[in-house]
Amino acid sequence: MVGMSKRRILLVEDEQDIADLVALHLSDVCDELVVANDGYDGMRLATSDNWALIILDLRLPGPDGLEICRSVRRDRPYQPVLMLTSKSSELDRVLGLETGADDYLTKPFSVLELVARVRAIFRRIENMQRAQPVGAVKNPAIQVGRLNVDPNRREVTLGSRKVELTAREFDLLDFFARHPGRVFRRADLLDKVWGYGHEGYEHTVNSHINRLRAKIEDNPSKPELIVTVWGVGYKFAAKEPAAAVVELN
Ligand code: CA
Repeated sequence: MVGMSKRRILLVEDEQDIADLVALHLSDVCDELVVANDGYDGMRLATSDNWALIILDLRLPGPDGLEICRSVRRDRPYQPVLMLTSKSSELDRVLGLETGADDYLTKPFSVLELVARVRAIFRRIENMQRAQPVGAVKNPAIQVGRLNVDPNRREVTLGSRKVELTAREFDLLDFFARHPGRVFRRADLLDKVWGYGHEGYEHTVNSHINRLRAKIEDNPSKPELIVTVWGVGYKFAAKEPAAAVVELN
């Protein structure tokens, strides 16, 4: 296929041994890997160049991982970001509202696990590119109440208001909207939307659900679209049957 973008990765990590190890193992997976050793270089490179993936250590000299993530997302909400943290107590911040990362690993992490995550991220990007060749038959947009999910433009609107979602938030919402009424376990969602069903990372799903709810629910504490099924997982509860609306353009 044509037009596959280069797999360039920016790694922002101040611990040299970790940076070296990651660089060594990711060399097979990507076309180019650039390492920044502090938050200053990290911020400059992250915001001034295009990257297939940015891997950010949370704690850095200078601007930290979250500040860099926030700045990048201002211009490129779809930028895939994987965050490295040293404490699970930092997860709420890492995966928090608006600026959060798509995915994270807690140190010490297995390099093989990191490679698996990176492969999954690239797979998702490339599937997305493959699914939208120019002139192809388009997927229909989905309308549920005031919510409209348009997979071609990768746009979500609520009434007349455009909802800004990260790539992963969009994928998650699109997945739900295409399976109204079906209950998914967190592990299923990790598998289907993140591309891996790794145990222990269900927190990622919860955080993304919370982020989505904050953006699309009238009252996020009483969600009516993405509903918790206690003891099982989540389902997309359409108040009315989901109607597929074919876009004419
Ligand atoms: Ca650090």
